[in-house]
Amino acid sequence: MKKFIVLGSGTAGLIAATMIKRRWGNKVQVSLYYDSKKKNIGVGESTTPTITHFLYKYLKVGLENFLKDTGSTVKLGINFKNWIPGTEYFHGFPEVDFSSTHYPESLYSIMTGTYDGGTNTNKATTTVPSHEFRYLHALHIDTQVFSKYVYEEIKDEVQFIDDVAETIVSDGKNIKSIIFRDSGEVTADFYIDASGFKSLLLKELNPEWVDITKYLPIDRAIAQQVPHNFDEVPSYTVAEATDNGWTWQIPIKGRYGTGYVYSSKFLSDSEAKEKYNSWLKEKYGVELTTEHIIEYKPGYYKENWIGNCLAVGLSSGFIEPLESTGIHIIVQQLMDFIDYNPTLKNLQYNRNECNRRNNTLYDEVTQFICLHYNTNREDSEFWRYMKENKSPWLQAYCEMCREEFLVESSIEKSKEFWHVDSYIQVSQGLKMFNPESIKDYLNSLPNGDTILKNCKSRHDELVKAKNSKLDVPHRSVLNGPVVINT
Ligand SMILES: Cc1cc2nc3c(=O)[nH]c(=O)nc-3n(C[C@H](O)[C@H](O)[C@H](O)COP(=O)(O)OP(=O)(O)OC[C@H]3O[C@@H](n4cnc5c(N)ncnc54)[C@H](O)[C@@H]3O)c2cc1C
Repeated sequence: MKKFIVLGSGTAGLIAATMIKRRWGNKVQVSLYYDSKKKNIGVGESTTPTITHFLYKYLKVGLENFLKDTGSTVKLGINFKNWIPGTEYFHGFPEVDFSSTHYPESLYSIMTGTYDGGTNTNKATTTVPSHEFRYLHALHIDTQVFSKYVYEEIKDEVQFIDDVAETIVSDGKNIKSIIFRDSGEVTADFYIDASGFKSLLLKELNPEWVDITKYLPIDRAIAQQVPHNFDEVPSYTVAEATDNGWTWQIPIKGRYGTGYVYSSKFLSDSEAKEKYNSWLKEKYGVELTTEHIIEYKPGYYKENWIGNCLAVGLSSGFIEPLESTGIHIIVQQLMDFIDYNPTLKNLQYNRNECNRRNNTLYDEVTQFICLHYNTNREDSEFWRYMKENKSPWLQAYCEMCREEFLVESSIEKSKEFWHVDSYIQVSQGLKMFNPESIKDYLNSLPNGDTILKNCKSRHDELVKAKNSKLDVPHRSVLNGPVVINT
């Protein structure tokens, strides 16, 4: 039997303990240590569809019960507002109801001005497409309720110990032991670092840090919950650009999670509080009551599995939450660890592969988030900085969008997280394509005419299918039982 110590009981620690125990069962003993006096980060409420994979495959709970028991809501995507002032667009999960955003039909719809990805947002507010409902969606969760829920599901399989890690003993290559305040010195075969931003375990093993501050300088957030009695329950997160960053609005049953995100390089904490306070008053008629400011360094560790230590969640890095990627990254890190460590022999080759994937994942998230800032706004020092400091990847990508279009294979071969449709939705939302270049691009292809004809008829079919599709009211889904219309 292999012994695991998980350090930390935030979302990362709980997900790690669950996935490891449920994968290896009696072959592992999992002890989770946490410091009840050190609060979890307390944010992380908008997710990607990966969360449903965790629920079904590892936690083994049904969606219906989960929604009822936790007050979570269904998320179909993100509504981006004012990134180009006065405009909005929607980034939905694959195949969520926006027929003209699918590649290659999007070629046709963008060229002919019939693209509807950004304008149909209102339809998505209160309904969930019935036929896709079971898998192609994410959730908005209350992070504290979620933690408690996961704890209840696994408390008989995982040993939970409230104790403070005081000293980490390592030889620079492996963790040798952890000395806890009450339990004394404890050893294990594997150590999972889920200790949050401090990376208590991984940082003992000299990991290399990738600093992304130059391209994504946002490094502060203030969060506040706002009670809300929904008449209609939105099924998407709102990310609204401000003059110095952006705000989030996440609908959980009975309340919104909101947050104000900014860069300390361009805004002081007191200015941010003032601006957030005005925003809260205007949107929800409430005052800012929290003093707490969340600070972080934008970036990640190149390797998150060194020797016998795997870092997951915030201890492995953090990129601003614009595409709600935090929990996704945790689940992905664990899936890779599980895939690349079947015998628990901890082989160098497997560590290399796992680290390569982790690095690619963080790199792709960084690039995709950079893309959202390609607004060419110039109305503040912050936005001027973003315009003048585009990453080399973004500069090349902009040129491709302007001069050609996105060729499916160029995205699908190099990217794993988001598909070409996601890139198209965001890029079209930021008005990066040029219909004339798309025409040129099609003309340059040996079978351009046929592609265009096929796109047009496929587009017409999808629009017809979409108009005849039955949607389930979001509210009825949340109150269960789930009714699937066919
Ligand atoms: C502003 C912001 C917004 C975010 N929004 C989203 C979002 O919308 N969607 C999303 O998916 N993700 C989001 N995230 C990321 C998400 O919050 C995290 O990925 C997730 O909560 C995991 O956190 P964690 O468990 O790694 O760390 P934490 O929650 O910080 O947990 C750390 C744990 O370590 C323990 N600990 C620390 N020191 C010791 C010690 N010495 N001894 C014992 N125990 C110790 C603490 O007790 C705690 O249990 C956001 C993050 C931030 C900062």
